[in-house]
Amino acid sequence: MAIITCPGCDRDVWDGEESCPTCSYALKESTNKVNMELFVSLKKRLVLLSAVAGSCLFALLVSMVRPPDGGFGTPVIIVGLIYLATLLARVSAKKQLADLEED
Ligand SMILES: [Zn+2]
Repeated sequence: MAIITCPGCDRDVWDGEESCPTCSYALKESTNKVNMELFVSLKKRLVLLSAVAGSCLFALLVSMVRPPDGGFGTPVIIVGLIYLATLLARVSAKKQLADLEED
């Protein structure tokens, strides 16, 4: 048995309970709710990753138009790597989303 957070009232409840003792939220309805939560968190992650990727791309473009003194230094490389990492993370999040939608 483990402690989970009730989706109804955000209180900690045992995962063995049929329903939440506080708000009587049905905890054992189906795994659809869990999938739904995963789906929502993946969507949020995609939005966040898109924002980070967008900011990195913007920073890269700005630094290309107006190269910092001394040319492209370490910060540009770091931003570029972060950008690549967010792209990869987005691909994997999208794949997970597609897997969820197949179910
Ligand atoms: Zn509850």
